[in-house]
Amino acid sequence: MSNFTDMDDDIGPIKNKLGVLNYNIDDETHAHIKVNTEVCEKCPHHLCISGCPVRCFNFMEVDGEVKMVFQYEDCVECGTCDIMCDQGAVSWHNPRGSFGIQYEMG
Ligand code: SF4
Ligand code: SF4
Repeated sequence: MSNFTDMDDDIGPIKNKLGVLNYNIDDETHAHIKVNTEVCEKCPHHLCISGCPVRCFNFMEVDGEVKMVFQYEDCVECGTCDIMCDQGAVSWHNPRGSFGIQYEMG
């Protein structure tokens, strides 16, 4: 967890560029990725933080404690986190019907 502040510096420019992407975001109960963040607290590597191209995984301060926060809304559905997480914290399935990121070429 030692590098979370360094990674935090890079998040702004990446998140700003997400505004050019077209999403149809489903409600949270139908999020296509769910993360058991309790497992993340004991994770030996946190590879998802650097592996996710749009930084959906971040350690942030929540109610005075540093916790893993996952934002499914920004996901570009690359599947990297499903492969990188060897701790069993990530459950991944395709978004429902017309939901998720809308790529021009399908
Ligand atoms: S790799 Fe898996 S367990 Fe580790 S921080 Fe990421 S989602 Fe959590
Ligand atoms: S599928 Fe890709 S973009 Fe979506 S959360 Fe996982 S690593 Fe990030």
